[in-house]
Amino acid sequence: MNIFGDDCIATRERLLRLAKALMSAAEPAFEEIRTVKIWSDFLSEHQIPVRWVLNGHSPVIDVGGFGQAKKSVVVTADLDAVGMMSGEGWVCEHTCGHFAQSVHALGLALLLHTYGGFENTAIRIIGCPGEECRPVYDSDYPLPYIPGKQWLLEDGWFKGADAVLSTHLADQLSSGWVQMVDGAEGMVGIRLHMPSFDPDDRRPLSMRTYAGFLEEWQKEIRRITSSPQLKVRARPIGSGIELWTGFPKELADVQTQMVDEILVRLSSSTAVQVELISSYAPLQQSTWLKELAEKVLKKEEAYLNIHHVHELPGSTDLGDVSQVYPVFQLFIGGTFGVTHDHHFHIVDEQFALLWPIQWLMNMIEELAVNS
Ligand SMILES: [Zn+2]
Repeated sequence: MNIFGDDCIATRERLLRLAKALMSAAEPAFEEIRTVKIWSDFLSEHQIPVRWVLNGHSPVIDVGGFGQAKKSVVVTADLDAVGMMSGEGWVCEHTCGHFAQSVHALGLALLLHTYGGFENTAIRIIGCPGEECRPVYDSDYPLPYIPGKQWLLEDGWFKGADAVLSTHLADQLSSGWVQMVDGAEGMVGIRLHMPSFDPDDRRPLSMRTYAGFLEEWQKEIRRITSSPQLKVRARPIGSGIELWTGFPKELADVQTQMVDEILVRLSSSTAVQVELISSYAPLQQSTWLKELAEKVLKKEEAYLNIHHVHELPGSTDLGDVSQVYPVFQLFIGGTFGVTHDHHFHIVDEQFALLWPIQWLMNMIEELAVNS
């Protein structure tokens, strides 16, 4: 089976139309209403069965008996777009390229449905809502923010997975290139507010200022991570300040629970009001899946180039999945500009939108052979 074969001309045209529709339906986290309608229409057009989970926010397509087959593989695609500042408010745009992931996932679903799956191997395709940290652009969104894959994990939709595969568009990368990444850092965001000044408050000044809080916060985080180097970015917001603390992927064992405990402890001793915005675990790509991916990619050596990267900027909720299951996400070229920037876009549709379907298919085939 080859997506670029002559028997797939109509499929390729349909998938490029799908990409356009998804791109113009850019929606915020947990409000991916038009996006899931496009998924639903595409799947019923091709009579592909789907289940809707997370109260209808998340489509799940099963090919084979997931969890019962010799090998069970999950493929994820994010559904939400990014809120971009515009005038007084924000508007959604697909500046992280998530619409492309939907095309990869639905293209794979269509090929599996048309040409059949693999013996002994079950495939589960999950459309995941709310990957982006919505409170970053939507300050009214209720806290703490739990990203989509944390909900999906909690509800057991990854349970039984032997491998989790995903794709993502890369920042400014030529056509014919992919990025093999070791991982991405985790992130914890907190929002601080200052109550009005109380002259009778006798606590030391370090307990009554943002700077004092920041120092205590860093001290506590360093204690549990025993890491001298932590990246903390401060971002002023209307009524206070946000602190974003990055965790290198080596610190994967820093649990959300530990952060919660620190917040409770600090909140009792400081005058600063603290709210947890969200936390994302570091992404640790599976070594054996990475090797497998490299093997699969090298079969296409003639026109494919691999760029190796240690750590990507930014965090993803796939990090949470990678703490429990073997995960590999491939970053795809054929793009211009940097994700989350207004100018980011695809320059080679064939490569960025269609080629990854073939890669996913080849990966699953390789996993099936080795089962
Ligand atoms: Zn993204």
